[in-house]
Amino acid sequence: MGVTEDFDLGIDRIINEIKNRNARKVGLQFPEGLKRRSFSIASEIENKTGAEVQISANPCYGACDLDRQLLETMDLVFHFGHSTIREDDGGKVIYIEARSPVDLGEVVRKAIPLFEGIRIGLITTVQHVHKLEGIRRLLEEVGKEGVIAEGDSRIAYPGQVLGCNFSAAFSEDCDEYLYIGGGQFHPIGVALCSKKPVIIADPYLNEVRKVDTHAIMKKRYAAIGKAMNSKVVAIVVSTKTGQQRMELAKYLLRSAKKKGLQAYILTMDLVSPEQLLNFKVDVIVNTACPRIAIDDAGRYPAPMLTPPEFEIVLGEREELVFDEIRGE
Ligand code: SF4
Repeated sequence: MGVTEDFDLGIDRIINEIKNRNARKVGLQFPEGLKRRSFSIASEIENKTGAEVQISANPCYGACDLDRQLLETMDLVFHFGHSTIREDDGGKVIYIEARSPVDLGEVVRKAIPLFEGIRIGLITTVQHVHKLEGIRRLLEEVGKEGVIAEGDSRIAYPGQVLGCNFSAAFSEDCDEYLYIGGGQFHPIGVALCSKKPVIIADPYLNEVRKVDTHAIMKKRYAAIGKAMNSKVVAIVVSTKTGQQRMELAKYLLRSAKKKGLQAYILTMDLVSPEQLLNFKVDVIVNTACPRIAIDDAGRYPAPMLTPPEFEIVLGEREELVFDEIRGE
């Protein structure tokens, strides 16, 4: 997450939790945008509780990515900036969500003339999810019905999206969607998964625009095209708790072998181009975080495909769909 705001991280609650649980060893895990606040938070915890504090310096892109060293050795771990995805964390992890104080009303008002339908699905990331009810009321005043739908078990709040899960855009039928937040990835995902128009209201740029999926689809079809005559396939599996899709990888491995391809499962924690440099493969199939194939594919030594894209290469699927990691 690209955090640049001074979020209130609720340090008093953190101190109380440590005292109430009598935790003597406390781990802290931050996404990149909040790491700059780690030393002051650690010092405050040490001064006010006397607990020993360790900070994870590993990259952390989501709640799918719990620091296992901290989980094994600490009494309590505070995971900042993400909501729980209800994976098994042994009851040791407290999620400290960063709620944005940024006003959304102005940019949402700007978006209203772009709507053509009446039922508008409201979608955002966890930083703004507490503002969705206010936006629903704002739309009601102009005759639109704001729909805040539940997602599946990986989604902590109605209307919330993750980069790997757009289930909150499926559970209710809407005419179109309003994505409130920064960045392109989430609204593109909502548009490709729902096949409905999506308007972006970006409060950071104070800008509204319609999502255009043309460029991303062109890129993805180009990657599929390059992979069509592949002979050697690497199927990547992350060992991170919330990204590990070994069963899917095994299914893809069997399917590839049936088509006469040489296919291998490669396991790794953080998926990065450097770790794949010495494997001579024609195509990399990424079963870890779906964002990697979309955001970073160009950095890898061979075309990188998502599982549904690889199924197209194998002739087992026709329609290109966005990869998601679904819950129950
Ligand atoms: S798998 Fe990727 S998109 Fe999903 S929660 Fe983890 S980092 Fe975010």
